[in-house]
Amino acid sequence: MRKCALTPFLTHQKALFEATYSYEERLDSLSVHLVNPSDNSFGTAVITPRWLFVLAAATPQAAGDPILVDESLDQIVPETIQAGDIVGISVHTGNALRGYKVGRMARSRGAWVVYGGIHATLFPEEVLELGQAHAVVTGDGDIAWGKVVADCMAGKPEKIYQGGRIGGNEFLPARWDLMNPQNYMWASVQTIRGCPKHCSFCSVWRTDGQKPRQRRFQSVVDEIVALRRLGFRFIALADDNFYPVTFTDLRQAREQGNTARLEELTAIRADRFHLMEELAKLPKDMVFFTQMTMEAGEDIEFLDAMKKANIKGALVGIEAVTPEGLKAVYKDWNLSGDAMVNQLQTFKAHGVHVLGSFIFGLPTDRPSTFDFTVAMALKAGVTFAQFVMMTPFPGTVDFGRWEKEQAENPTMVGDVPITRYWLIPTAVRPKMFTPHPTMSSDEIRERTQKVWDTFYNWSAIWQRSACTPNLRSRVAFMFLSMLYRQMYAGTGISTDSARRKKSKAWARWTAHQCKKLFQAKPMPELEARSWAPDLLPSIGQAAFAGSDGAEMAGPFIVISGKQ
Ligand code: SF4
Repeated sequence: MRKCALTPFLTHQKALFEATYSYEERLDSLSVHLVNPSDNSFGTAVITPRWLFVLAAATPQAAGDPILVDESLDQIVPETIQAGDIVGISVHTGNALRGYKVGRMARSRGAWVVYGGIHATLFPEEVLELGQAHAVVTGDGDIAWGKVVADCMAGKPEKIYQGGRIGGNEFLPARWDLMNPQNYMWASVQTIRGCPKHCSFCSVWRTDGQKPRQRRFQSVVDEIVALRRLGFRFIALADDNFYPVTFTDLRQAREQGNTARLEELTAIRADRFHLMEELAKLPKDMVFFTQMTMEAGEDIEFLDAMKKANIKGALVGIEAVTPEGLKAVYKDWNLSGDAMVNQLQTFKAHGVHVLGSFIFGLPTDRPSTFDFTVAMALKAGVTFAQFVMMTPFPGTVDFGRWEKEQAENPTMVGDVPITRYWLIPTAVRPKMFTPHPTMSSDEIRERTQKVWDTFYNWSAIWQRSACTPNLRSRVAFMFLSMLYRQMYAGTGISTDSARRKKSKAWARWTAHQCKKLFQAKPMPELEARSWAPDLLPSIGQAAFAGSDGAEMAGPFIVISGKQ
């Protein structure tokens, strides 16, 4: 690790601490902090950062209950960190810079600093150097975290802990008892990790692997019951891909005469149905939403099972509406044009609303692509949509190609090569990084902004809100649509600082209002498998009454964790 000016002071401070207190006293007084870094604090967050509560469960009992800090609510207070404490920070590309700042602060106060998350997995050396880490966990933290904490408590952490990819039956349930339910609109539960696809802009298949790892359904249901007890009825199934086996996969295995593969795929599919059967037994006021591929649109049995299980919405990666665009991102198994429109309409016809995700800035995009995309999104009847600008995320095929192109003569922003854009201060960080063959970055950004404005204009939102059961829900739907637009388009795409500031203030206020719409009456009496079917309507109604009927209003704001 590069030595910083503070190193002698820190070494002295740590030595002093160790000389003053015995090992037992140090153990008694230390605290474990888990920090979700963020530059944007809204006071209210849409979805619970699940990893915080999972690592809380992985923290050894000897260290006591960890202190959880979600900076998307409020920034960390440095004075809460004492010498000898252990600070765990999870970083992805978007929050790495803030994460490093938090880590350096924690280290300057004499704490043990440990990083994990996708970015730390991909760049452990960077994290050790710029984040001043004592240790880095790569891969899954569910098991590795306990060992790191124990080693820090013993004063001997290793530099690298390889968490690898653990099996689905080893996934830990989260410690929801440590959450303040007032802070979040929706909770998140994971049912599966990994994705068999290989889209060029996505790192999930490389970091989480292509082999689906399914969690035991009873563990999933128990966690959901715990959340419903607390008053959460909106829950994101925070999976990489909820639909891991397609008809094409099954057909190919059959055609190849690959019996073992066919059996494996059939078993995975059967497990998905089993999980959905169990979800269907939960109180009827629950609303789940997830992420999956468009291919599920040809699987009516699957969509119907989702509807029965109250999975009312799904983020579907549409990416591009033309065959050339899909080919550019290795997603030519997706449908385009009118076939795509029909496929997406099938979701809706079977009770699953779609949040369509589109990418702009692909090499095949032309000025006409923007209007055409928004027209297709409207024609397909997607209930929500997000329009993101092409970003080469580390760990992806696109990033690897770009890094190679830049190797000889790298573009610099200040003293940072553009291929390390996450290290560029946000105020001067470009919005796009890879040059487009025919359009400037500004043109792409402005056209993308216009698409958001078109899709989320008041009249279009009002028309889409007709899917809700009553006037109050329609109003809620409109609020949510605007919140989504402000959170992403207002603060993420805009380069106008006045607009960004206004959007943040607006999003903060709207998020606070929206939170009330999602809260339901807690059901402390609910137990896993204890509800008799004839009790369900009364339980459901009691909870529904407390939630103002936002039934159809909000299974869709998904701030995707994908990179
Ligand atoms: S974008 Fe979606 S379908 Fe493609 S690899 Fe990533 S998770 Fe899988």
